[in-house]
Amino acid sequence: MRALILGGTSEGRELAALMSARGWLVTSSLAGRVASPRLPVGEVRIGGFGGPAGLARWLIDQEVEVVVDATHPFAERISISAAEATRATGVPLIALHRPAWEPVARDKWRMVDTMEEAARITERDYHHILLTIGRQQLAPFAHDDLNLYVIRCVDRPDAPLPARHRVILDRGPFTVAAEKKLMRDNQIDCVVTKNSGGEHTRPKLDAARELGIDVVMVRRPELPGGGRITVVHTAEAAFNAAMEL
Ligand code: NAP
Repeated sequence: MRALILGGTSEGRELAALMSARGWLVTSSLAGRVASPRLPVGEVRIGGFGGPAGLARWLIDQEVEVVVDATHPFAERISISAAEATRATGVPLIALHRPAWEPVARDKWRMVDTMEEAARITERDYHHILLTIGRQQLAPFAHDDLNLYVIRCVDRPDAPLPARHRVILDRGPFTVAAEKKLMRDNQIDCVVTKNSGGEHTRPKLDAARELGIDVVMVRRPELPGGGRITVVHTAEAAFNAAMEL
């Protein structure tokens, strides 16, 4: 069987390993945003397809039998592309998206729908803000000249950035103890994060709870669903769904 995994996540890499070990011909596709990405096993292609039509052509040319959308829950456009291209070609689509984080007792979360809303809150209510939102959506925070922003991401972010900022280049994995130290050392009073879900970046939420720090949590966008898309939450479930096709 020949599968295309739209990746860029740990679940995508896990699934590529599972499928390859069972003899599937797997191509993982990455957007090319990160300078030296963690690579999955099997074949890898890097770069966009040119929208839904380009992806549909690729699926036909490569005789793909199943597409797994294992992209990050905030990667909206590629998920829409996957839904449209598979609808047009009739190739089955499995959407592998890790469950969202849910607050537990003593969490102090403020839920927002957009990064602009998050920026309005941090500018008004906080002073030392930890941004763990990647480097593509920093612009809404850039005009705040008063407060300090600690920006943690994998690759160096481009301007515009807030006047007072510190950049920490790190891709984890992170521990609760290290996250608490980072927050204490920088006198953080607010953490901004997308509701990415998963275990790898959860320690920042545990650290914030233990230190009594507020979290501004950006809700997930609606991703395409529908009768012809099988939605699963783990690599193993995606593998089982693919085996049943
Ligand atoms: P996006 O806004 O949904 O995608 C923008 C464009 O990038 C797409 O239209 C597509 O170009 C191309 N693209 C995205 N993912 C691709 C993939 N896996 N393979 C080939 N082309 C891809 O995506 P994004 O938010 O920039 O995220 C890019 C990648 O980073 C995703 O693969 C995602 O899994 C990973 N990632 C994203 C986040 C996040 O917070 N957004 C966090 C961690 C990892 P064409 O239209 O030309 O095909």
